[in-house]
Amino acid sequence: MTDTPRTFGQQLGRRSWAEPWKIKMVEPLHMTDRAARERALADAGYNTFLLRSRDVYIDLLTDSGTNAMSDRQWAGMMVGDEAYAGSENFYHLEDAIHRYYGYEHLVPTHQGRGAENLISRTAITPGQFVPGNMYFTTTRLHQEMAGGTFVDMIVDEAHDPQDRSDFKGNIDLAKLDALVKREGAARIAYISLGATVNMAGGQPVSMANVKALRSWCDTHKVRLFLDATRAVENAFFIQEREAGYANKKVAEILKEFCSYTDGAWMSAKKDSLVNIGGWVAVNEFALFEELRNLVVVFEGLHTYGGLAGRDMEAMAIGIGESVQDDYIRSRIGQVRYLGRLLEEWGIPMMEPIGGHAIFLDARRFYPQLTQDQFPAQTLAAELYLDSGIRAMERGIVSAGRDARTGDHNRPKLELTRLTIPRRVYTQAHMDVVAESVKAIFDQRDKVTGLKLNYEPKYLRFFQARFEPI
Ligand SMILES: *Cc1c(COP(=O)(O)O)cnc(C)c1O
Repeated sequence: MTDTPRTFGQQLGRRSWAEPWKIKMVEPLHMTDRAARERALADAGYNTFLLRSRDVYIDLLTDSGTNAMSDRQWAGMMVGDEAYAGSENFYHLEDAIHRYYGYEHLVPTHQGRGAENLISRTAITPGQFVPGNMYFTTTRLHQEMAGGTFVDMIVDEAHDPQDRSDFKGNIDLAKLDALVKREGAARIAYISLGATVNMAGGQPVSMANVKALRSWCDTHKVRLFLDATRAVENAFFIQEREAGYANKKVAEILKEFCSYTDGAWMSAKKDSLVNIGGWVAVNEFALFEELRNLVVVFEGLHTYGGLAGRDMEAMAIGIGESVQDDYIRSRIGQVRYLGRLLEEWGIPMMEPIGGHAIFLDARRFYPQLTQDQFPAQTLAAELYLDSGIRAMERGIVSAGRDARTGDHNRPKLELTRLTIPRRVYTQAHMDVVAESVKAIFDQRDKVTGLKLNYEPKYLRFFQARFEPI
């Protein structure tokens, strides 16, 4: 499992994880100097979300909507059927989702949170619990706004950055049993299963775990819904690590995984290699009717859901490309390439390396800072100052405040995410990133942290402002 880049490549019958594509169009990067970066960061309140992209050199803020599309996807954009109702591209998308994810009924949305809004409003009765495997920011907020209470049921290993278990995204069924014993199954809206788990470092869920969840849900008459945002990456880890799957295609594994769930929502801006798009899909017709009705209130008619016809076409083609074994191996191979450079230098990070990003462990990076001095936010700021590379906080700021007490939620994980956009940067860019992380690691003793001076009510990490202590 912990193979080096070389043996990882040899499993593919090639010397390296080299990309199965070449570059046809390029976009110049913006080089900046230290003085300009200091000004830009101060103007942005030390929050990388508030930087202008023209002030960024290598942008590892997110893998969301930052993908490079293929020539086939761009060609698909030209056959957009921009009819208000019944666009041909909707039917292509429906076919792709049925074929690769297996669900019966599709409702497109403009992006993932649009789908989360719909499923939360239709499947949660106020006062119910929504157990899941570590929270995701927008997912939990929509569940709360629909009157639900999210409860974290992830295995304990997920909270330990140095634990090297293979499937740190799994749900602990003993925790589910305890919840049912305490509250009764009728108080559970559904299981909210994310695969991979973004906030845990892109860690996967095993096939054994989703199968066990299926039978648990059948016993207790509870629905099981999947956050399928990175389910293709999850399928790759199953192929690599779980007995019986080494000779199956990622596409087959994905479909089997989804078959144990009752439906899914998706931010297609991640796995599906597009810049915008999402969906919710379910097998149950009555629930579909509710979703299809509600989408017209929030997103648009049920055959476009806030998207242009061309966007749906790009997504339909992107889904097919995303499940190709050689593509997904190179995608995760690039993430590992960066991770292993950092490992060689002893940089503390979330282990094992996950699917979409390297998560630096800011607690061990800056042991002199308390969590209330925002170590992960500080690390993202220092990286930007050093080189113009943009990362994102995934720690106390992202975790927000406890709805009842108003105090910070204090997650065990205090991480800075270097997120790799798909098909965008080269190996040489990864070298530059690793060198910059090393440079700030060497200067770590001088760092004194940040203090918060503005925060908005919802999803504060997007718009909060800080200043140096
Ligand atoms: C990004 C993301 C979402 C939300 O999707 P958007 O397209 O950003 O609205 C939901 N779940 C996970 C796991 C995500 O990473």
